[in-house]
Amino acid sequence: MTDNAERQRPSLSFEIFPPNTKTSNELLLDTLDELQDLGPHFISVTCSNKNADLKTTTLKLAGYIQKTLNVPSIAHLTAAYSSKEDIREAINILKRSNTNRILALRGDIYADKPPLEDFRHASDLIHFIKEEEPAFQISGACHPEVHPEAKNRVEDLQNLKKKVDSGCDDLITQLFFDNDIFYRFRENCDIVGIDVPIYAGIMPIVNRNQALRLIKTTKTALPRKFIAILEKYEHDPESLRAAGLAYAIDQIVDLVTQDTSGIHLYTMNQSQTALSIYRATKTLFKEEAIVV
Ligand code: FAD
Repeated sequence: MTDNAERQRPSLSFEIFPPNTKTSNELLLDTLDELQDLGPHFISVTCSNKNADLKTTTLKLAGYIQKTLNVPSIAHLTAAYSSKEDIREAINILKRSNTNRILALRGDIYADKPPLEDFRHASDLIHFIKEEEPAFQISGACHPEVHPEAKNRVEDLQNLKKKVDSGCDDLITQLFFDNDIFYRFRENCDIVGIDVPIYAGIMPIVNRNQALRLIKTTKTALPRKFIAILEKYEHDPESLRAAGLAYAIDQIVDLVTQDTSGIHLYTMNQSQTALSIYRATKTLFKEEAIVV
């Protein structure tokens, strides 16, 4: 295969979240060792919108992935409860570990906690970081099923365009289970002139509690095939896991054949899930995949 063809392959990346106990910390370090071997395009680290200590853990973890594991990392940064000074400090911490990629988010706003006034939208944060550090690569979040606060799809798309115009280099989607929704969203992005790469966020469902939590907290559309898996294997965790993985693999194959720029896997800090998906799909992402 030529260099050109190799470059056209989609990226594969992973999301992890900072652990909040000693045990989960050790487990995460093992997970990261295993993810490192898969040669991901990048690993992104989520951040807490509320807890300042956990925010620092995000920056440290992103630095560890970048500097110690030598894997490109992205630190998530939320704006709603951050001041300009907080963001300058975060940027400085990241620079010390040679990390120059940020997923700039507004974060959720809580009814009992008024946001600060420095940044109203993710686009304000993106603009600010680009002014402070033009060489930083900034990702933004996008919502193929429309952000829950948006009045409608058109308004949400117009706001997304403003976000991209403020300096966003690429977009990562909220998770979805129906690829057709993603394809419609991508077409709409094209129509309004959003031309940055869009990485599809895929979450493999591997247990029932995880699925129930999701159904409760997101408005993600659940295709009939997906609901059938949950119902059929309600009392059979092993089969539910197998079917959930197969569902995610099926989604990924379809997305890759439809020229999606990249797949961003929500790992839930479970290396076994990422490994299973990787083993089944690795040749879609790399010519010479590492044998694991
Ligand atoms: P924005 O882009 O600011 O959009 C929020 C709302 O405001 C939308 O309705 C939008 O239409 C509207 N809007 C945007 N710009 C404008 C404008 N200029 N004028 C008027 N209206 C506007 N949350 C966390 O707390 N931590 C994380 O680590 C985290 N990681 C995430 C990763 C991904 C890939 C995704 C998709 C989401 C993540 N989130 C995370 C959740 C995210 O913080 C929430 O979805 C939040 O409610 C909105 O953040 P945003 O960056 O999309 O906001």
